[in-house]
Formats: sequence, C-alpha cells, structure tokens
Amino acid sequence: MAAIKVGVVSSPSWAFIDVETGPVQPRGQGMSYAHRVTGGRAIRLQDFDPDEDAGLNREQAEAKLVKLGQEIVELQELLYAAGETAVLIVLQGMDTSGKDGTIRHVMGSMNPLGCDVAAFKVPTESELAHDFLWRVHARTPGRGRITIFNRSRYEDVLVVRVHGLVPRDVWSARYDQINHFERLLADSGTLVLKFFLHISKSEQKERLLEREQETTKAWKLSVGDWQERRYWSAYMRAYEDAINNCSTSHAPWFVVPADKKWFRNLAVAETIVEALKPWKRPWRARLEEIGREERTRIEEMRKNERRKSERKGA
Ligand code: AMP
Ligand code: MG
Repeated sequence: MAAIKVGVVSSPSWAFIDVETGPVQPRGQGMSYAHRVTGGRAIRLQDFDPDEDAGLNREQAEAKLVKLGQEIVELQELLYAAGETAVLIVLQGMDTSGKDGTIRHVMGSMNPLGCDVAAFKVPTESELAHDFLWRVHARTPGRGRITIFNRSRYEDVLVVRVHGLVPRDVWSARYDQINHFERLLADSGTLVLKFFLHISKSEQKERLLEREQETTKAWKLSVGDWQERRYWSAYMRAYEDAINNCSTSHAPWFVVPADKKWFRNLAVAETIVEALKPWKRPWRARLEEIGREERTRIEEMRKNERRKSERKGA
C-alpha cells in the first residue's frame, strides 16, 4: 500500500490498486466475492453469472456476514474517531435488484450517528434547474462519515440515456464529468465504492410478481417497473458503458452477483471490509496522535493551574 501521511489524506489509495490483472480481478485468496472492474479492458455483463454463489450455501454465507458485520462496526468506529476519511458507497441496479435490502442487511449494523443514506429519485424542478451533480454533491459524506447512495449520479447516464431525456451529446459528456467529480472526492479524502447489483431478467420477474402477492411488499409496486423491463437490454448496454467508462483506481465499480440475496449481502459486506481494512493502521495512528496531543494539552493545563495556585499560596 502506498505510504499514507498521518493527518493528511491526499489521495486515498486502495490496497489492491496496483493489481491490474485484466478486466476483472479474479477471485482468490483475499479477493472479493464481488468482481472489481479495473477499467483495463471492457467488460460485458453477460459474462457475469447473476446466480453465482462461490460454492457457498446460505448458512455459510450468513455466518460469514455476521463476522463481517462486526468488522464493519469496528472499522466505522475507527473511521469516525480518526475523522480523516469519508466513505461513499454507491448502490445501482435494476428495479428489485436489492438496493434497499443491501442497505438493511449490510449497513444495519453500523452506528447511525456516523452513517447517512441518500436516495435519488426523479429530479425535482429545482434539481433539474442545476447541473446533474448538484444534488449529488450536496449529499456526499464529510470526513469520518459513511454515506450510502441508493441510486446516484449514474441515473443521469442510465435512465436518462435509455429514455433520451437529454440529447446524446449531453449524456455522453457525463462520463468524463463523473470521473472528474469522483477524482475531486478522492482527492478530498473520500473513498468511493460503487456496486452494480446484477440480477437476471427472470429473477426480476419473480420478484415483481412476489411484490404483488405480499402485502408487506406491495408499497413498492410500480407499474413503471414492468414498463422499464421492456428496456432491459438498453439498460444493460447503458450499465456496461457506465461501468467501463467510470471504473477508475480511485472509484472502482464492483459487479455483484445478486440473484441470491444472501450472496449479494455477503459480497457487498466483504468488499467494504476489504477496502477499509488497509486504513485501520493509519486511522489508529491518527487516534494515537490525537490522544497524545490531547494528553499534552491536559498536562499543560494542570501545570498552569499548579503554577497559579503556587503563586497564590506564595
Ligand atoms: P425508486 O428507487 O424505486 O424509488 O425509483 C426512483 C426512480 O427515479 C427510478 O425510476 C429512477 O430511474 C428515477 N430517477 C432517479 N434519478 C433520475 C434522474 N436523474 N433522471 C430521471 N429519473 C431518475
Ligand atoms: Mg422502484
């Protein structure tokens, strides 16, 4: 890992950044269940099996998730206390791909004091009157905090592109604009992790039908979801371009097999832990530094008080 100056987060670097083995980092020891896209060569989504489970069963995956949840709690506490780095987690995926479920399961263990969720819907009139990054920038995390985006700036090259809501030259310029924006976030001490929750078209159908049956899920029903299904292949192309154009070392995309909810949760949690772990040492070092500084101040205060009372006594 690149040397990190304690107290200064100039350009956060991932522990695994230097490994450019191909379009996607192979899973192996210490690698992620999610597939990190390196940006080296273009990926095709059809090459990823949404039903993948790495040979695990549900019980094994859930047991692993419990452990990862504990690690996330510990990492979040260090992140918060050190107050140097921010973490932005972006969740994207087709309707029913599990963005809400991932937030509940993976982030459910986090301390709500240091964690925010922002959902991006159809832009309001006021949002549309600004550049497309305006509403997004306003919700990015400050140092010490984790923010999860349920949809994001990427909608502006996904739904907007698929439905031609702006001319082609406008949306096609946005890939570079997003890359510059994410570079700015990274240069300002923000770790950016972007997850594409990859479900199959048939799994989506089952989940939509399930929503119609279950009263507890009926609030999510939307005729738009069935209508959007007709544009599935256009969405896949738009996702591929977003992932290929905007996978950078400072803001990587991860393709998450998401047909099995328990595997999806595991893959996202593991990726977060693997990405934050290398920061444990610098965050601890920062905490020790803060501790030393504060102790020195307290000692000085006591010395001053002693001096004052000695003078009074004299
Ligand atoms: P949901 O996440 O199910 O609540 O739905 C939010 C909806 O807002 C989705 O259909 C998104 O495609 C849509 N949406 C989000 N951002 C934008 C955007 N920038 N332009 C147009 N539609 C958007
Ligand atoms: Mg919806």
